[in-house]
Amino acid sequence: MSDFNHYKVAYVITGKVFNETPLRVGLGKAEQLGSPTDLPVIKMRISEGKEIPYIPGSSLKGVFRSYVEKIAAAIYGLESIHSPFDSKRAESEYEDNRICAVCGIFGSTKLASHVIVKDAFPLSNTALMLKPGIGINRDFGGVQPGIGPFVEEYVPSGLEWSFGMNILNINLEDKQGEDPRPGLLKQLISSLRKGELQVGGRKSVGSGIITLKELKTLKRFINPSGEFSEIEVNI
Ligand SMILES: [Zn+2]
Repeated sequence: MSDFNHYKVAYVITGKVFNETPLRVGLGKAEQLGSPTDLPVIKMRISEGKEIPYIPGSSLKGVFRSYVEKIAAAIYGLESIHSPFDSKRAESEYEDNRICAVCGIFGSTKLASHVIVKDAFPLSNTALMLKPGIGINRDFGGVQPGIGPFVEEYVPSGLEWSFGMNILNINLEDKQGEDPRPGLLKQLISSLRKGELQVGGRKSVGSGIITLKELKTLKRFINPSGEFSEIEVNI
């Protein structure tokens, strides 16, 4: 799967993401519960004095990876998967030339990712909303006395976002089934279309359910006469 020196095929997937429920992708450090300050959503400054919320591609990719890990575990067994931060496992997979399907899609400390997920930006203006939060004890899941209340910022439900994902050198139209990666990626896309994935915080109360719509896939490849071709495909 170390095939980056050789361009075979790329799928350029675009569409729109719709958040069905309120969404909050926070700033790492400010997420500390019990912080006396309000908990803002992550924003990007687009001009002087104007900031818009966005969903970092890395957040989406993290959600996609853990979802694909779950499917891979269900199909191939738990021992087939490992934490993305398990660098020992990544190294032994690389040395034995037995890269697991999940690293073969999303990369590891030894292997570049075959998937690039772009930052998602709102397609219209939206007012953010504030919800009072309560302190949840991370170890026991219960309300932690003495923490909070504090105010969390959310993107209200019903906003449309840009979506873009590129898949490199994985043949999504593979019919032979020897490579597990096309099937895992197609399952991921199908689940995204059905609204089965959640992004951001407060998942346990149903936040961050996203649905992928208006999917369009362009396939880019070198055709047999050596020319660069681009066609629309259904995956
Ligand atoms: Zn792996």
